[in-house]
Amino acid sequence: MSEQAIPLVQIGWVLAVDSEKPALQEFVSAVGEQVIRQLREQFPQFEWQLNRSQRKRFTERGQLDPLPLLELGVQEKLRNGWDYVFVLVPNELQARKRIRTIGVPSSALESMVLSLAPFMGLENSAEKAAQLALHLFGHVQGLNHEDATPMQPPEIPHEMAEGTLFSAEQITFISDRLQDVADSRTEELAHHHSRIGFYLHALRADPISILQDIWQYRPWRLPLRMGRLTAATTVTIIILLMAAEAWEVGTNFDPILLIIGTICAIFVATTFVFIGQNLGEVSRGMGMREQLVRTRVLVYATLFLGMTALWTVLFVVSFLAGLTLPRDVLIGWSQNSGLGMIEIARQAAFMALLGVIAGALGGNLEDEDELKAELFFDEES
Ligand SMILES: [Zn+2]
Repeated sequence: MSEQAIPLVQIGWVLAVDSEKPALQEFVSAVGEQVIRQLREQFPQFEWQLNRSQRKRFTERGQLDPLPLLELGVQEKLRNGWDYVFVLVPNELQARKRIRTIGVPSSALESMVLSLAPFMGLENSAEKAAQLALHLFGHVQGLNHEDATPMQPPEIPHEMAEGTLFSAEQITFISDRLQDVADSRTEELAHHHSRIGFYLHALRADPISILQDIWQYRPWRLPLRMGRLTAATTVTIIILLMAAEAWEVGTNFDPILLIIGTICAIFVATTFVFIGQNLGEVSRGMGMREQLVRTRVLVYATLFLGMTALWTVLFVVSFLAGLTLPRDVLIGWSQNSGLGMIEIARQAAFMALLGVIAGALGGNLEDEDELKAELFFDEES
C-alpha cells in the first residue's frame, strides 16, 4: 500500500422497517448525509462512504427490542463488508435497565441501533439525530462520556446540542483505531488463513483495541449482574461450607491439582456458558470473517474474566467464612488437628472451584437475551 492511499471507512446505514413513507425515507437520508458530512469534516484523513439500504424485517409500529436490530446490523455489515453499521427505526426502543433509550451502541458487534422516534417533528431534527449517531459511534470506538462534545449523554432529544465536535484527543483516539481497522482489513485481504491462524491473526491485528473493549465491559462485574448465576453459586457454597466431607476433601487437596483444576473449571465454565447461550452465534452462516472472529474473542475473553472474578469472590467469601467458623468444629470436620490459614485457603479455593462449575450451570438458566444484552450493549443511550 502506498503512503498516500487514503483508508476507506464503509458505514452501513440500514432502515430496518417495512415502510415506504416518503417523510421517513427523506429523514433517514437527511440524517445520514449529516453524519457523513460531520465525519468527513472531522476525520479528513479517511475516505467515508455511507451505504444506505433497507431491510423490511420489522413493522413500524410498537416498541422494538434493540438486540435483534443489532443482530440484523451485524449480518448486514458482514454480508456487505462494511466496517460499521447503523440500524435505524422510526419506532421507540425497549429499554432493559433505563426508563427509556433512544440508541444502543455495541462495540463488540461494531453496530449501533438508533431510534428516530424522538427526533421526528423537532426543529433541526436531522442535526440532532446525527448528534446521537456520532455519540453512538464514539462509544463503539471506545470513548467515554465527556461534556461539550458528541460524547455528552443525550438525555432530552429536543434539548440536544447540534453540531458539537469531537475534541482533539477524541479525534486522535478514534483516528488511531480507524487506522488499525483499515490496516488489518488490508492484511486480511492479502492472506488466507486456517481456522486457528484466523483467530491468531485477529488477535495480533488489533490487540490493544480488543483489550480496551474488554476493559470497557468491566467483566469483573459480570457475576453480580447475572442474578441466577450468583444465586446458584451462593447456594452451592453455603451447603458445602456446612458439610464436613467438603472440608475433609478441601483441606487435603493437592495444591497443584487445585491450581490446574481451577484453571480447567474456569475454561469449562466459560465455554459452557458461551456455547449454551449461543453467544458465538451472532450471525449464523457468515463464515470466518475477521470482524466476527474479533467479536467472538471479545465475548469469550470477557466471560472468562467474569468467571475468574466469580472464582475470586467465592474464594474470599469461603476464606472469611472459614476464619469465622469455630476452629474446633473445623478441626473435627477436616480431621486435621493442625488446621491453619493455609488449609483454610485450600478449602476456600476448592469451594470456589466447585462454585464456578455450579455457576456455569446456573449461567445457562440465565435468559439468553439478558446475557447477550449484558455483553453486547455498551449502554442504553
Ligand atoms: Zn453514552
